[in-house]
Amino acid sequence: MAKIHELSENLTNQIAAGEVIERPASVVKELVENSIDAGATRIRIDVVDAGLKQIVVQDNGSGIERDQVDLAFTRHATSKINNERDLFNVSTLGFRGEALASISAVAHVEILTSVEGKIGTRADFSGGSKKGQEDAAARKGTQITVKDLFFNTPARLKYLRSPRTEMMKIVDIVNRIALGYPQIAITLSNTGKVLLRTPGNGKLQQTVANVYGRHIAEKMMSFEKEDSDFKVSGFLSKPELTRSTRNYISILLNGRYIRNFKLATAIMDGYGSKLTARHYPIAIVAIHVDPLLVDVNVHPTKQEVRLSKEKELSRLITSAISDALLDNVEQTSAFENL
Ligand code: ADP
Ligand code: MG
Repeated sequence: MAKIHELSENLTNQIAAGEVIERPASVVKELVENSIDAGATRIRIDVVDAGLKQIVVQDNGSGIERDQVDLAFTRHATSKINNERDLFNVSTLGFRGEALASISAVAHVEILTSVEGKIGTRADFSGGSKKGQEDAAARKGTQITVKDLFFNTPARLKYLRSPRTEMMKIVDIVNRIALGYPQIAITLSNTGKVLLRTPGNGKLQQTVANVYGRHIAEKMMSFEKEDSDFKVSGFLSKPELTRSTRNYISILLNGRYIRNFKLATAIMDGYGSKLTARHYPIAIVAIHVDPLLVDVNVHPTKQEVRLSKEKELSRLITSAISDALLDNVEQTSAFENL
């Protein structure tokens, strides 16, 4: 057997990147989540060729100090948690300190960032190493440009699907993030064509209209219910408006888009016999809960979480939805201001 040795940082970053960065949509998700964590109220996502050529995410958030840029691109370096207690009380979308290190291990990355505006920092990273840094004119906030994703990992590149499919995945993730953050103005474009634009006025029904179209938003109804641990709220399609897949169900836990089969089932249970077989609702279900009841440290992409009191939450969701559907008759269209 060969001698045991520690892997180089470059190699460990590439291995980590394999878990977090699967495709252009994962880059978009990680960068947009960083913008949200930085307190941005405006986020612009411009991709070229479905992100295969280039992905730019620009925000008006906190920016990064000049002497912190290197750390931002260092694996397991984060500003978001400090100790073990924080790990079980995560209130930000990020906390693993892996995304920027991972992305820059498998692409060319340029960051332009400024804490105060006017003057800031530009730095370049590529294939896991730093290429340069200089002072540069910049607006307050951060702009990250990712070019030639997977240029140095041909196996990954080969595994990517058609630009059309990769773009659908980007649109899907940005739509769900937008639905989770109606108070943030989000714009998404592909090769100059605007695909989504939300005003960031905090109105969820407006975002639903931006994402799914006004004709759909008009056929949806709001709901809200809480118990001592959870508050659930959102928008639901009326039973006559259905889709043939579960893909139109978005579950947002403290703003984080998650996949959870049991909670999706709880949503459908709320419709009971009003849904026929293989018909699925359009639903945006936002759950607010004390972060102490959620373990987000389950999977590198953070889309799966472990929940205490999942049964209680399921019951609350089901009853919130069935109540809302009962009231449906009384709810008239409240969408004249869309
Ligand atoms: P994490 O989000 O898990 O902390 P990342 O690798 O995604 O790890 O980011 C590392 C650090 O870089 C973050 O903790 C944050 O301090 C900083 N950072 C990243 N993106 C931004 C941004 N858009 N605005 C401000 N700071 C950022
Ligand atoms: Mg992050």
